Amino acid sequence: MNKKIEDAINAQINAELWSAYLYLSMGTNFRAKGLDGIANWFEVQFKEEQDHAMILYKYMQSRGARVVLKPIAKVETEWKSPLEAFEDTLAHEQKVTAMIHNINKLAIEAKDYATQNRMVWFIDEQVEEEEEAEKNLSAVKMIGDNPLGLFMFDKELGAREYHQASALK
Ligand code: FE
Repeated sequence: MNKKIEDAINAQINAELWSAYLYLSMGTNFRAKGLDGIANWFEVQFKEEQDHAMILYKYMQSRGARVVLKPIAKVETEWKSPLEAFEDTLAHEQKVTAMIHNINKLAIEAKDYATQNRMVWFIDEQVEEEEEAEKNLSAVKMIGDNPLGLFMFDKELGAREYHQASALK
């Protein structure tokens, strides 16, 4: 595997694990505030991000490339409102999308067809991640200061279940 692509995928593994850490931090933040449904949503997100890291981890090994684990940067520990957390979520997912697109660009330049193919799953996944983040963000904007709205939204997010990523099976 091309060294630039190897480095970019290693950076992506770190970014996915950092994402997991970020969402777990959001999860505990909302548990502490009694918003258990929103917390559940972020805890499921935490598991999905770990899957993303593992898909790349396995892919690197399949290609005979070396996974190099770097330190995980610290994350915020406090979000004053669901609005703040979902704003951060959307902004973060947009950054992740740009990173995935960059790996794909490097793979195209290097004529690395296998990596391009692996990136297809991530490109599709990022469309879903951004859509979901936008959906949650517009919901909390609509709810504003309405306690009943927040109560119902929290209940809805409490129903989210974790399913292992198809690309890991
Ligand atoms: Fe991810």
